[in-house]
Amino acid sequence: MVFRKLVLRAMGSSGLYSILRHRRKGAIAMAYHGVEEEIIDPRIQTVHIPLRRFRRHMDYIKKNFEVIALDDLSERLEAGRGLDGRQVVLTFDDGYRNNLEVVAPLMESLDLPFAVFVSTEHTGQGVRMPTYRLRAGIYLTEAKSCRIRGFPEPFDLRDERARDHAIQAIAARYKTAPQPEADAILEDVESLIPEERWSEIDARFASDTPMNWEEVEILHRRGVTIGSHGRRHVILHTGQDEAWIRDEVRLSREEVERRLGSCRYFAYPNGTSQDIAPVAADEVVRSGYELAFTAEFGEIRQDTDRRLLPRVDGDDGFEYLQFYLNTAYRPGHHG
Ligand SMILES: [Zn+2]
Repeated sequence: MVFRKLVLRAMGSSGLYSILRHRRKGAIAMAYHGVEEEIIDPRIQTVHIPLRRFRRHMDYIKKNFEVIALDDLSERLEAGRGLDGRQVVLTFDDGYRNNLEVVAPLMESLDLPFAVFVSTEHTGQGVRMPTYRLRAGIYLTEAKSCRIRGFPEPFDLRDERARDHAIQAIAARYKTAPQPEADAILEDVESLIPEERWSEIDARFASDTPMNWEEVEILHRRGVTIGSHGRRHVILHTGQDEAWIRDEVRLSREEVERRLGSCRYFAYPNGTSQDIAPVAADEVVRSGYELAFTAEFGEIRQDTDRRLLPRVDGDDGFEYLQFYLNTAYRPGHHG
């Protein structure tokens, strides 16, 4: 890990990237979630990155690439021209309030367009994302063990390592289970913390507050592209009911369209290839979206399937960002 980072850092200062960059042909879509002034507990706030790191990303991207809006990307793909390796689009999943309070002011000062994919029921009801609720439930409960429906054995929660293990197993099942089972898992984890303590915890982790519609509309009026991320952040894998999958894709689009006038883009919840049933990609087209984004790594070229556009995760360190942006290549897998 350390060695790889040193190599990447050396590459970054060698000038090699300015050569490699010109060999690329497509666009890169960056995938972020939230940005916070300060991260107070990285176990819980896994999807948020500190502002200073995000600013470094944006400074680098602005200096070396051409940041375009999603509408512009869509038009260039439609036209079959206009991508030459320099284009970058900036996207944010889930619809956190910090997109309005922290991200938007910075982007406006740098004059960079970006897009936010909102989960319409979370936006409408102020309910927090499942990952936050699972992580906060397991790491912050006072229980020393717990039983979760669907698991034959209770989980040991005596120490940090046991909780790491529990959250891994529980989150993995949550993401692959049919929705009724996933809901039961979430309910069991939430019950590990009494309700009055949840309000304390939620207040401490303001980072995970979703925007309400009023706030989404403010962003929209300020020129930010708003797309759909489904209704309930249901993961659209092949184990889900097909009608349910179609509803998540179609009804969320209708809701955003009703509120804002249009909704041309979709981002799949979780978004790895195993989180996207063929019927989900099919419904993206039927519902009338122009582009849909995954969490699979890669570069967007003229011939890339517009229902399954790859993105580059913005959560990795700066050296990785440089490497990804300039090569569109990810060496092996790292931690
Ligand atoms: Zn998401």
